[in-house]
Amino acid sequence: MSEKFDVIVIGAGPGGYVAAIRAAQLGLKTACVEKWVNEKGATVLGGTCLNVGCVPSKALLESTHKFHDTQHKNAVHGISAENVTMDVKQMVARKDKIVGNLTTGITGLFKANGVTTLAGMGKLLSGKKVEVTAADGSVSVYDAENVILASGSLPVNIPPAPLTEGLILDNEGALNIDETPGTLGVIGAGVIGLEMGSVWARLGTKVTVLEALDSFLAVADKDVAKEGAKLLKKQGLDIKLGSMVSGTEIVDGKVKVFYKDAKGEQEITVDKLIVAVGRRPQTQGLLADDSGVKLDERGFIEVDIQCKTAAAGVYAIGDSVRGPMLAHKASEEGVMVADIIAGHHAQMNYDVIPSIIYTHPEMAWVGKTEQELKEQGVKIKVGKFPFAASGRAMASNETDGFVKIIADEETDRVLGVHMVGAIASELISQGAIAMEFCSTAEDLQLMCFAHPTVSEAVHEAALAVDGHAIHIANRKKR
Ligand code: FAD
Ligand code: AMP
Repeated sequence: MSEKFDVIVIGAGPGGYVAAIRAAQLGLKTACVEKWVNEKGATVLGGTCLNVGCVPSKALLESTHKFHDTQHKNAVHGISAENVTMDVKQMVARKDKIVGNLTTGITGLFKANGVTTLAGMGKLLSGKKVEVTAADGSVSVYDAENVILASGSLPVNIPPAPLTEGLILDNEGALNIDETPGTLGVIGAGVIGLEMGSVWARLGTKVTVLEALDSFLAVADKDVAKEGAKLLKKQGLDIKLGSMVSGTEIVDGKVKVFYKDAKGEQEITVDKLIVAVGRRPQTQGLLADDSGVKLDERGFIEVDIQCKTAAAGVYAIGDSVRGPMLAHKASEEGVMVADIIAGHHAQMNYDVIPSIIYTHPEMAWVGKTEQELKEQGVKIKVGKFPFAASGRAMASNETDGFVKIIADEETDRVLGVHMVGAIASELISQGAIAMEFCSTAEDLQLMCFAHPTVSEAVHEAALAVDGHAIHIANRKKR
């Protein structure tokens, strides 16, 4: 008879591994299936996020930010450094070490919590059975009371730019470039495209970003998108909007990129090209024909608000289901589902999921944008405070950007927090906490923020909602 588990999770990314740990913590006999292996053939936990996504990209962003500051920004402090060099191979090796530490850490957490790792390709059969095909081709079938599908996503490839070893790269290849290219093309001005473009622009690469849409960061609040575009341009990122890539050609070891803009057919030649046009759900080979789980027209696994699929006892979470493709969203869904399986009440607040772009300065937001609220006819009050008026930001020489808080004009409830700033990725959680606790702008106004801190900009933006910010002229007409 096959071994039976209370919960089998398929996929060990931030959705799956978190779900597995939580389920085990709640006393459920839990296994997690993972097919990812490293060059030595060992199973690798952590999924896209730890291996080729969030963490490695932030490691490279951090290294190149330090290099850029040393070269261009520290003189104002009286610090001078000559002949500053970047050892790109060392930078990539450091990134790999961090990835290794974190993925091994998940193996340790699985052991500590009693989660069984099942190495191989998982497939959901009917009746909540899970088939696991190991790397050597051997097949085992396990029974489960509950199954959590957490198979994540893969990069979208487009026919005009087929991946070409060392020249046309997806996000994984982009993280392993081991020499600074002279010129780099990026297709797609989304989060990944902007972050990867920033990494290389800081090392002196001439970066051109080709974006099909006419507007920059259409999902962001218009003020964030405007400020972000201005600052990235100043840093040398050449972002060409309304530029649809139609083809590529490899000529003399370089990539010729053909695109169409308002003026007609155009072309550029670059040393390397990164394709960053989005990600798609990964479900190939995951579901037997009679599994009972349904996919929607875009290939995402269909789920309800509690991540339940059409098959009883089968849940799906993370990038392979609707909603933003973000690690923290995947993890929170994992926790919710494990709690539900254990019989607890659990729900997820999809209205309060922060989004961050880790350029410098960073762009971050939570809740609704000004344009969304206006379209919905909601009457709003807006408060904005620039970091240029923050003493601590001045002391840090990081005065670019602002905090913007949007509150309901009648109820004063905070509906959105948007920012551009050096540490916006950290500050945005203050907005998320406020919104999760249904705060009003006045609640934030009445709080005592430590001085001098960059966080005071959040306080001041809340005060500005009613024209009461102290350190800018913002008096509202009575
Ligand atoms: P994944 O992390 O994709 O994990 C799925 C796992 O399931 C994989 O390990 C896969 O091998 C395994 N799997 C799939 N099918 C099977 C099967 N049939 N059998 C066995 N195993 C299977 N998000 C953020 O929140 N912040 C960021 O800063 C950020 N930066 C990013 C940067 C880059 C370059 C990229 C590419 C992504 C970034 N993301 C970021 C997105 C984030 O990585 C994803 O949202 C997150 O990894 C989704 O988690 P997941 O668990 O759903 O899927
Ligand atoms: P995201 O989904 O946030 O990662 O962003 C991907 C971006 O790539 C989107 O803004 C798309 O408009 C853009 N994009 C997709 N295909 C092309 C193409 N062929 N040429 C230029 N931009 C593209």
